[in-house]
Amino acid sequence: MQDLTDAFVELFRRAATDLPPDVENALRQAYEREEPGSPAQSVLGNILENVNLARKQSTPICQDTGTPIFYVYYPAGWSTIKLREQIEEAARRATAKSYLRPNAVDSLTGKNSGDNTGEDFPVIHFVEWENDYLQVDLALKGGGSENCGVQYKLPFNELHAGRDLEGVRRVALDAVEKAQGLGCAPGILGIAIGGDRGTGYEVSKRQFFRNIGQRSETPELADLEERIYEEANMLGIGPMGFGGKTTVLDVQIDRAHRLPASYFVTVSYMCWACRRHRMIVRGDEITYQ
Ligand code: SF4
Repeated sequence: MQDLTDAFVELFRRAATDLPPDVENALRQAYEREEPGSPAQSVLGNILENVNLARKQSTPICQDTGTPIFYVYYPAGWSTIKLREQIEEAARRATAKSYLRPNAVDSLTGKNSGDNTGEDFPVIHFVEWENDYLQVDLALKGGGSENCGVQYKLPFNELHAGRDLEGVRRVALDAVEKAQGLGCAPGILGIAIGGDRGTGYEVSKRQFFRNIGQRSETPELADLEERIYEEANMLGIGPMGFGGKTTVLDVQIDRAHRLPASYFVTVSYMCWACRRHRMIVRGDEITYQ
């Protein structure tokens, strides 16, 4: 099996310094939508300037380079043990090169490992698939936005949210209100309906690997994504909480089977710095998207 450590370092570099085009376009469209000269437009203008500078200088888009979350789709025959070792080594090298801030802290001692490795850090999901190539998706998820994630157990009487899509809508908008002033808006909502408490968060965060504007293939979920997106943007929270028309850049929803006894709705929040990149390995050829 080939050594992909350097390729993973490059994947880290791209993710940390080069915002994906769909996210940048969404920010640009938001800039055009806001009132000229408004605080909202000025915040978006600063964000876009920083994005541009970071790309040019190959420096992190935000000082918090977040939790690295990997999805590794591999054909039969690849060693996940070796892939994990290479990703961990790449995290060390990417930290040494300052593409990543040292972000992994021992939860008992409070000691920072200094190299972005530790217990379950980076987060790596391995999925064997039928294709004959390797695909590695990486997202860097900032701590401020992670703190805004919330899981609701429906029915949720306080919001009159029952176990149906209307209930999902109510709690999703509540989550946006609770994130007000936190999490660096405009953000992206990843929502999971169902699952257990663990899979709820996993499915909700997996939505952040979808492109902005990519609607669910399930028509009722696609409609709900659109509706929550529009209603969240009418709340007036705006970029960084300064007011305006852009509170979220998108809303993406999926579902998982659940037990009859449970109906969880999990809302994960991704800040505007939705840093994700993809690497494809076919034989000796390595490409990035
Ligand atoms: S929430 Fe996002 S934009 Fe805000 S500080 Fe953290 S990583 Fe940076």
